[in-house]
Amino acid sequence: MSDCLFCKMVSGDIQPNVVYEDDDVLAFRDLNPQAPTHILVIPKRHISTLNDLEPGDEALMGNLVLTAARIAEKEGIAEAGYRTLLNCNAEAGQTVFHIHLHLLGGRPMGWPPG
Ligand code: 5GP
Ligand code: ZN
Repeated sequence: MSDCLFCKMVSGDIQPNVVYEDDDVLAFRDLNPQAPTHILVIPKRHISTLNDLEPGDEALMGNLVLTAARIAEKEGIAEAGYRTLLNCNAEAGQTVFHIHLHLLGGRPMGWPPG
């Protein structure tokens, strides 16, 4: 999608700080990190929100979670613990409308989230 920030990262028009890439998934450091480790894991295919997922997207979404777990290991936060989350639409605070899984770690996380 031409006017989507994260699609521009997938196409290379914008170059984020990439930590992992394969045929289906891109992971890069968040520009405004909320924890010592804050990485976004996105599908390369444009999907606006969780509400737009369809049957057939199971493997892709599983890939996002598995990728986050592997990155957590590499970042050295797997044992201490980390948080993964997907914001969907306004009340959850979604600001970029291309699905992205947040991987946050390196500090204790509060619960419930704000
Ligand atoms: P959301 O609020 O939609 O769940 O998360 C969007 C995330 O994208 C935010 O954490 C924000 O800091 C991050 N973000 C927004 N613009 C950019 C950018 O240009 N580069 C990178 N690396 N992250 C961005
Ligand atoms: Zn997009």
